[in-house]
Amino acid sequence: MRLTPNEAELRIRDEVRAFLAEHLPPAEEIPDDFDARVAYLRGWQRQLHEARLVNVTWPEEYGGRGATLMEQIVVNQELARAGAPALPGEVGLDVVGPTIVEQGTAEQKARYVKRILSGEDIWCQGFSEPNAGSDLASLRTRAEEAGDHFVLTGQKTWTSWAQYASWCAVLARTDPDAPTHRGISYLIVDMTSPGIEIRPLVQMTGDAEFSEVFFDGVVVPRENLLGELNGGWKLAMHTLTNERGPVVLSHQVKLRVALDGLVADAARLGRLDDPQVQASLARADVAIEVLRHQAYRSMGRAIAHGGAGVETSVDKLMMASADQLLGDACLAVLGPHAVWPGGAPGDTTPRAWQHTYLYYRAATIYGGTAQIQKNIVAERILGLPRAT
Ligand SMILES: Cc1cc2nc3c(=O)[nH]c(=O)nc-3n(C[C@H](O)[C@H](O)[C@H](O)COP(=O)(O)OP(=O)(O)OC[C@H]3O[C@@H](n4cnc5c(N)ncnc54)[C@H](O)[C@@H]3O)c2cc1C
Repeated sequence: MRLTPNEAELRIRDEVRAFLAEHLPPAEEIPDDFDARVAYLRGWQRQLHEARLVNVTWPEEYGGRGATLMEQIVVNQELARAGAPALPGEVGLDVVGPTIVEQGTAEQKARYVKRILSGEDIWCQGFSEPNAGSDLASLRTRAEEAGDHFVLTGQKTWTSWAQYASWCAVLARTDPDAPTHRGISYLIVDMTSPGIEIRPLVQMTGDAEFSEVFFDGVVVPRENLLGELNGGWKLAMHTLTNERGPVVLSHQVKLRVALDGLVADAARLGRLDDPQVQASLARADVAIEVLRHQAYRSMGRAIAHGGAGVETSVDKLMMASADQLLGDACLAVLGPHAVWPGGAPGDTTPRAWQHTYLYYRAATIYGGTAQIQKNIVAERILGLPRAT
């Protein structure tokens, strides 16, 4: 893979830097409360979109720039390096949107894509159910055909951003008699439809990022079917590959910036002489460096082959491991202060380090668990016999 930027990449890098010099939201301005934070960050996404710096690889006619994957990586890395906050529309931008851009009809693209970029529409991903997570194909939410629409009934869970979402990408069973993988369709559901109930779930971070979502006889117009009837499984795999893959190069920059900040705080708190703190910081440092090399390797492959593939499972595993080692280092640095909300009384240690530790406990679960990624690596990369 080429590691020195070409002219177009340098141009877009300078453009992002100039934009950030003027518009980067100051950290202290970003609200702590989750609802207020989401509202604030929608404004941030709109500004980035107005500068045409969101998902630059998407076609120009839908608001992207038709740029290369490498240019996208340059943009993401610059944002991560500057400590720019994550965009609230990430499920639409990184997970569902790429599937719509590649597989949607012209009408679907015209209707959804621009609003995903601008943050006007937040999306959620309704795949997991109480009894269908790793074994997603056993999902039971059903969509019955009724002329020009489907009637959707069932329950999803762990649906991130559901309470803010305008649209949900739902996997539903449309042919109960077909073998499990073949009877599933991919539906785009209007979250304001009658018959939808959203119950937010509070995570141990204190944020209610995900929800349970109940569908009771929800009418979904047939034009909201993405891809073919009963062809949803293939599209779901496309969506999950997006969730596991292309973010890794910018994510490792984000982790590196966080680790540098953590080391600075450890020095400020007088914690750097503690051998346990040193060992923990060193483990995180090595994991992030290894992730950087892995990210370049798999992105090199994605660029050569025109898209991410099964090796994103290796990225996902290494990313989750680096996330959690950084979280462990946060805990080591905070020491006994970790148990106070907002740090010890009078201590200015940012609450962010506690949040980092708590949030990244989920890194080996979301987007497919670590055990499932290991199964994929064993079977599809190493060619070992299938797990029974
Ligand atoms: C923060 C967060 C956000 C999420 N956001 C979303 C979202 O927006 N949309 C969405 O649809 N889902 C979302 N999820 C759900 C996530 O995709 C599932 O939690 C995940 O796929 C695991 O499914 P499960 O929770 O049902 O666990 P299970 O599948 O029940 O697994 C339980 C345990 O058994 C292990 N296991 C299961 N099967 C095997 C096997 N064959 N071999 C070895 N080990 C196995 C698993 O690794 C795990 O340790 C989110 C989860 C989290 C934590």
